[in-house]
Amino acid sequence: MRFERYGAGLVKGMIVTFKHLLRHPITTQYPEQRLVPSRRTRGNELIWNSAKCVVCTTCAKTCPQGAIHMVTAVDPANANKLTITTIEVDSGYCISCGLCVESCPYNALHMGYAYEKAKYRRQELVQSNEGLLATETRKASAYMHADMEKELPEQTLLINNKQQG
Ligand code: SF4
Ligand code: SF4
Repeated sequence: MRFERYGAGLVKGMIVTFKHLLRHPITTQYPEQRLVPSRRTRGNELIWNSAKCVVCTTCAKTCPQGAIHMVTAVDPANANKLTITTIEVDSGYCISCGLCVESCPYNALHMGYAYEKAKYRRQELVQSNEGLLATETRKASAYMHADMEKELPEQTLLINNKQQG
């Protein structure tokens, strides 16, 4: 009797196994295959627009992690104005909460679009000055900036991948 029950379970298990064997794979072969993240993703770096920034330091004060460090100075060309001499974001402390982006009153800060940022050295996790500016490879996401969505590629999902495959 016991043997019969064991056999039935084995058959059921094999049926499940065969179903999975015939199913289309739903995983991707990373890193050869990469999915495109959401256009409003909160990537693991920040993008700063120095032209829009008015050096109010709101972002640094808002950060719950103390991950943004700013050094300001009086603008030599205008004594009523401040300039940033150093801006650093330690992405090793950043939890990608997006509060700094939400708090910026001049839309000068964006969440990055990238999600791969493994580094060999701790210091390389700190973005500073020019390292915070947008480049061809370092793009801003549309998080908190829905108007930027049209410039970004459509998100691919595992389910899309399945249909395409
Ligand atoms: S995303 Fe959050 S943790 Fe990261 S720098 Fe901005 S406020 Fe700080
Ligand atoms: S909150 Fe915006 S405008 Fe103010 S210092 Fe930060 S990036 Fe610049």
